Parts: sequence; C-alpha cells; structure tokens
Amino acid sequence: MPIYEYRCNQCDKEFSELLLNPNAIKKVRCKYCHSPNLTRLISSFSVHQAEESRLAQFDTSKPRGDEFYKDSRNVGLWAKKRMKELGVDLGSKMDEIVEKGRTGKILDEYDK
Ligand SMILES: [Zn+2]
Repeated sequence: MPIYEYRCNQCDKEFSELLLNPNAIKKVRCKYCHSPNLTRLISSFSVHQAEESRLAQFDTSKPRGDEFYKDSRNVGLWAKKRMKELGVDLGSKMDEIVEKGRTGKILDEYDK
C-alpha cells in the first residue's frame, strides 16, 4: 500500500495519505488547514524513533530504496546492523566509520 506521510509547513501537523494514483501525489493538501506547503516524511518509524529501536526493526535481508538513504540518519545503519548480526563489535570505531560515511569524509579516504 502506498502510504505517504507528510508534515504541514503551515500548521506543523503530521498526517498520512493513502495514494493509489501516482498523479494524486501532486494534489495532496494538509488535512487540517488545506495548505499545499508540505514536507514529505520518509516513514513514521525512521523519523520518530531513536537509532537503537530503528536498528532493532531494521531488516538487512531486504533491499532499501533511494528514499531510505535520503534520510542521512539511515546511512551506515545497515552496516551497523550487519556487524551486530555477524557478532562483530567495532564499538566506537564503527561509529567513527559511520560518521565519516554520513559526512562524506569516507570518500576522502578511498582516494588515498
Ligand atoms: Zn496544515
């Protein structure tokens, strides 16, 4: 089911919309004040939960779409989860690597 979540930039309320027709996406209005000025949210679970609980729900066996990676907090999450599943504990080192990945600094190191 294509359910999209939005936050209204006008009244700051959040709501979800079931969109069966792709053309309807452009016509979405705030349910409360009918403003078209909306921010699309990635998904309720990735936005509202702390990293630990997001990690717990994270299924590394499923492919992730582009939308997933538009939330920079999700970058590195997969690697972290995978490491945990494999029983590898890199501790703060892993956080360091993930942080580099998030900020793009990891690319600098590949150049060397
Ligand atoms: Zn509104």
